[in-house]
Amino acid sequence: MAMDRRKFIRTTALSTGLAVAGGLASASCGLQGKKDASAAAGSSKAKDVKLNISFQENTAPGESLSEKFDFMEKLGVTGFEPWGGGLYDRVTSIQDALKGRNIKISAVCAGFEGWLLADDDAIKQKCIDSSKRIIEAAGALGAAGMILVPAFNSQKSWPHTLETRERLVNELRELAQFAEQHKTSLILEPLNRREAFYLRLVSDAAAICKDVDSKGIACMGDFWHMTWEETSDYGAFLSGGKYLNHVHIASRKRRRMPGEDGEADNYIDGFNALKAMDYQGFISFECGTEEDRNVVVPAAVDLIKKQWEMDC
Ligand code: MG
Repeated sequence: MAMDRRKFIRTTALSTGLAVAGGLASASCGLQGKKDASAAAGSSKAKDVKLNISFQENTAPGESLSEKFDFMEKLGVTGFEPWGGGLYDRVTSIQDALKGRNIKISAVCAGFEGWLLADDDAIKQKCIDSSKRIIEAAGALGAAGMILVPAFNSQKSWPHTLETRERLVNELRELAQFAEQHKTSLILEPLNRREAFYLRLVSDAAAICKDVDSKGIACMGDFWHMTWEETSDYGAFLSGGKYLNHVHIASRKRRRMPGEDGEADNYIDGFNALKAMDYQGFISFECGTEEDRNVVVPAAVDLIKKQWEMDC
């Protein structure tokens, strides 16, 4: 029997709607469809994905790198994210401090001069030259890459136009190819609108990576910035796809140690996406605290480990 056209449209619309709703439900674990998302991420493969935690320079208590690394090893923290400024001259001392330890350099946090979207060529060139020096150090240290923000709100830049985007992609391609030569990458970090209007979404960073089209380009997600910009932690990380190679974490109201903002500090939705993607990179602390680091840092690591094991 031939299907009535109106009935066909109604049936198709209904099934399409359900499929879309199901996909969104899976992608928005933490709001609705928790069981669907759990099923998506809960395969044996997803459960076996290893949690790799990293600290920035000021996360652990201690005066020296050696003291900080001792503290990290006791907590099972296996990644270290140094500041990029002056890193070139610290490569040997960092390599020495890492000898015999189960700690790797996760990524290098910025530290370059100038900014890439500058409307002043001298400032842009300063960014390129200083970034290359940091990228060399990042490669020597075995880091996944150097984190870069194209421009902060306070930095006078080209307007947000198609031409600017093409210029940016070309500049990034030069740096990405340089990074690839040094066996590392350039990692684009989206920020929230109060810090950087230009690049705010993980999906946009990944789309720029696609346009750059180099093995030396990557992107990351920062839970702090994602809190304000993304509609779904799960969807944000998933949209990073093959380009996602680093993650930052902080409490979700005040950018302190995870857990200091109580129930707001729920990362399970995002963790489920990372597990489903078989994410092999690090989750690196980028946050401050006014409390005793000897107390709140181990508590934060414990919280992250527990949430990593949970499906929502
Ligand atoms: Mg960050």
